[in-house]
Amino acid sequence: MTELRKSIIIAIDGFSSTGKSSFAKLIARDYGLLYLDSGALYRAVTLFAMENGFITDGKLDRNALLPFLSDLHLHFEYINGASVTFLGGRNVENDIRTLQVASNVSIVASDPQVRNFVDNILHSYRDKGGIIMDGRDIGTTVFPDADLKIFMTASTEVRARRRAAEMEQKGLKCSIEQVRQNLEERDWIDSHREVSPLSRAAEAIELDNTDKTLEEQMDWIRSLLKEKFGLSPIR
Ligand code: C5P
Repeated sequence: MTELRKSIIIAIDGFSSTGKSSFAKLIARDYGLLYLDSGALYRAVTLFAMENGFITDGKLDRNALLPFLSDLHLHFEYINGASVTFLGGRNVENDIRTLQVASNVSIVASDPQVRNFVDNILHSYRDKGGIIMDGRDIGTTVFPDADLKIFMTASTEVRARRRAAEMEQKGLKCSIEQVRQNLEERDWIDSHREVSPLSRAAEAIELDNTDKTLEEQMDWIRSLLKEKFGLSPIR
């Protein structure tokens, strides 16, 4: 069983702000898995593009951005158990969470070369132990052979409220309406892009958490991991 803990791959996909990352982080902590936040990588590429003037009026100048990709040195560091996104030597974990970055990220994430770049980073973590990842195409494209695939959903209203509260806690000001608009826009672009659109893998188990607390979701996953793999939490 210890072996499985070192090699298991869990993919969590779903719409924006369905609580994928909070859920995945807790599972990683309780089961001793490495957490990979694929959205953070797309956000970091977006931040880089914005800071260098490669995005104007919601349009990406891909010819300007692409030559820089291979030198970006994007990676995660694990500080006090938390995953922190680094762009070169710079900790960008807070800067990538703004509504401005959220407004541009889906355009950047639609680019096939950007996707290929991010996929390579995610694949490089494969041999580092058991991993749990959240995103939009993990179970369909990045790790189609994942041992467990979960697809998360929740009502738009609940998602907007949760995300606005989260942003407020971080001191980022925005209205629920602004957040809702952004979620709907991103969901639309993410589901309709040509390369690796957001979609549920046929074998994914759906988790609708509109009316579920995080603790209830953890009870659900504990039963599932026990039943399916005989896996118990290490803490
Ligand atoms: O998960 P998060 O909301 O941080 O993701 C930000 C954006 O990154 C998504 O709206 C989507 O455009 C893009 N993304 C993606 N594929 C993934 C993860 C994120 O296209 N696997």
